[in-house]
Amino acid sequence: AKRQGRNAFQLYNNGISGLATSDFKMESLLREAIEKKEFVLHYQPQYDVKTLEIHGVETLIRWNSKELGMVSPADFIPLAEETGTIVEIGEWVIKEACRQNVEWQRRGLMHVPVSVNLSLRQFYQVNLVDKIAAILQETGLAPELLMLEITESIAMQEDIAIQVLQDLKALGVLIAMDDFGTGYSSLKYLHSFPIDHLKIDQAFTQNLENKEGLAIVTTIINLGKSLGICTVAEGVETSEQSNVLKELGCDIYQGYYYGKPLEAQALERHVQGGQK
Ligand code: C2E
Ligand code: CA
Ligand code: CA
Ligand code: CA
Repeated sequence: AKRQGRNAFQLYNNGISGLATSDFKMESLLREAIEKKEFVLHYQPQYDVKTLEIHGVETLIRWNSKELGMVSPADFIPLAEETGTIVEIGEWVIKEACRQNVEWQRRGLMHVPVSVNLSLRQFYQVNLVDKIAAILQETGLAPELLMLEITESIAMQEDIAIQVLQDLKALGVLIAMDDFGTGYSSLKYLHSFPIDHLKIDQAFTQNLENKEGLAIVTTIINLGKSLGICTVAEGVETSEQSNVLKELGCDIYQGYYYGKPLEAQALERHVQGGQK
């Protein structure tokens, strides 16, 4: 079962183990997962629409729990967010993604930004900017090779959000607005938030064959163009979608058609294989 709001007795059916687990149990397992090294990062490539060269990679966390089997981020991220564990998990993700990117630079494999998803709670922690500055310092990653993905929900406290985003931009990192159009969209904050990338949610990409879907994606791409923000189409699964997006002037492809999220080594092979 999927999560339905806050309920300590909510049950999950987990992956291969098929065990049902309470939030309470899962939360205590989550807290130990970093130490037990149960988290793994996968990286999904993004490609330039015009040149089909690699443009970046998005970091997506996986939890391989000894007791629960593979747990989807869609199942544990909301719980980690509710209980606050996400702050520690998220910091580990940023550090590991930066370290990995530095390694890729060093080995001459790729020279592209790595994107990391920031949860709401993480975004609003008081020392976020200092933490990120420290991680960049510690790992030696150039700030322009780190992209932070936020969602529209950060607009809840608009003034604080603008300040945090400006501080992050001052550090030199890139900002992407994730799942654009699925939350509380406002044209006002698109103007006031310093955003580099606008990510078109996969639900829209996968709806391109109908009139409404096409209209929405066309609008987002044109919006990106007029604001000078790069548009990234998520969830590109077919050559048809890929062609339509190209015609509409979308900048970047991300999706199974171009590459699934892969562990670092597998991604290296995929990229060296000169994919697409
Ligand atoms: P998201 O940030 O919107 O990530 C995109 C999701 O779409 C990923 O699911 C990815 O595997 C999936 N995807 C990519 N291409 C395709 C495609 O062509 N077709 C389909 N059907 N799906 C595609 P995933 O990895 O299960 O992650 C789910 C969500 O969990 C993410 O959505 C993000 O909100 C969250 N998440 C993942 N990793 C992290 C993390 O490190 N921190 C935080 N705060 N959230 C994370
Ligand atoms: Ca994302
Ligand atoms: Ca997304
Ligand atoms: Ca999403």
